[in-house]
Amino acid sequence: MKDKQTTLDSAISTYTLNNLPNGVFITDVSKEIVYCNDYFSTELEWEPDALIGKSADIIFTLASKVFYQTYLIPTLLHEKICEEMQLTMINGKGIRIPITVNVKSDNAGLIYWSFFNATKRDKLYEELIQARETLEQQAEQLKLLASTDELTTLLNRREMKYRSTLAIELAVRSHHSVALIQLDIDHFKKVNDVYGHPEGDRVLKELGIRLKEFSRKTDLVSRFGGEEFLILLNDTNQQDAILFCQRLHQLIGEVKAGENYIKASIGLTISTPDSIFKTLYAEVDAALYKAKESGRNKTELYNRTGIKNINSMP
Ligand code: GH3
Ligand code: MG
Ligand code: MG
Repeated sequence: MKDKQTTLDSAISTYTLNNLPNGVFITDVSKEIVYCNDYFSTELEWEPDALIGKSADIIFTLASKVFYQTYLIPTLLHEKICEEMQLTMINGKGIRIPITVNVKSDNAGLIYWSFFNATKRDKLYEELIQARETLEQQAEQLKLLASTDELTTLLNRREMKYRSTLAIELAVRSHHSVALIQLDIDHFKKVNDVYGHPEGDRVLKELGIRLKEFSRKTDLVSRFGGEEFLILLNDTNQQDAILFCQRLHQLIGEVKAGENYIKASIGLTISTPDSIFKTLYAEVDAALYKAKESGRNKTELYNRTGIKNINSMP
């Protein structure tokens, strides 16, 4: 009667362990597998009984084996239990499977292992990391889009206003001067009319690239409007700024639109100790207007006693 009950108990316990949706196995003091449930054959593709009597080393990757020796065994010795460890198991076909393991030891030196396949969790985690990276890239992109002009990749109007305001404040405080330059392509409407809008776009792009290359790293170069560029030269006096504008005309004259070379009118102003962006911009705008009005393809310098054409300056 007692034997029958023991057989029944054993059958129930075996039946129960073999139907668990997770792996269960027991190792002895010498790391030998003394029991494993059917999960190993049904889910991990090991031959039934292939593991019994073998070292647990054959079901773990090298890194997991090292972890086993250096962390798991010492922890078990002290605490008898070790929970939620992330290890990698090898299935019967040699495929690596991430697992989450709980381990417990008894006084006889047996170690009881129970683990879950964590492939889905790892995949989800990877997807989360990927999603976070994508979001970070998009945020970077948005930041860039918010501060640059899409066509030329120069600073856009808003960013230029913001950075120029700061640069002018800094210059005033450190007793330096900055030069503000407004450049507007002459008769650009004709470029679009004669060669088409795509060629107009290409010209703007090429000029943008050349302006950026031509300027120093500390200068601010922007596309401030359609065919209008605003440049701030940091720590620059009138003489250097005039030289810069003369070279700028040469540079602009190298850009082709269809078969012709473009030209531009330029307004220039130099900051004073009480300059702010708004006043400097009004000055440079007035100087540009003068350059347009007086024949185009030239630079006009704004100065407090009147606007001067730099081409006629000594
Ligand atoms: P002005 O010498 O007086 O400056 O003459 P303009 O023809 O250059 O000036 P206007 O203001 O009459 O025309 C500016 C032209 O610039 C018209 C507009 O279609 C063109 N434009 C503005 N933005 C873009 C752009 O992004 N791409 C292209 N292709 N053309 C643009
Ligand atoms: Mg123009
Ligand atoms: Mg214009």
